[in-house]
Amino acid sequence: MSRCRRAWARASRKARSTASEFDAEGRLGDLRIDFEAIAAHLWWLNRSGRAHGVEIGYVILDPKLQRFLFETKYGPKIRNTMRFSQKRAWVRHDEHYHVDFRCL
Ligand SMILES: [Zn+2]
Repeated sequence: MSRCRRAWARASRKARSTASEFDAEGRLGDLRIDFEAIAAHLWWLNRSGRAHGVEIGYVILDPKLQRFLFETKYGPKIRNTMRFSQKRAWVRHDEHYHVDFRCL
């Protein structure tokens, strides 16, 4: 089992037992949200979508975490290209994010 999988399994057990969430800076135990990867994923997903007639219209990610996303290499580009949730959704979106596409 890889180091990442072990850390994830440990964090998942902890989350189930204590209902933990990532903190305000995206940390949970020894896990850290990879905002660089998320921003790059959103940018390239949008670029790929455009080649197929869709683009990202809306992203749901915990608003408290978005500033870390916007501070990344792709942050300014995605901030000006797609809308981000302004309010906390029905469940906290820290361990996953949603992407809504719209047709071009
Ligand atoms: Zn969700």
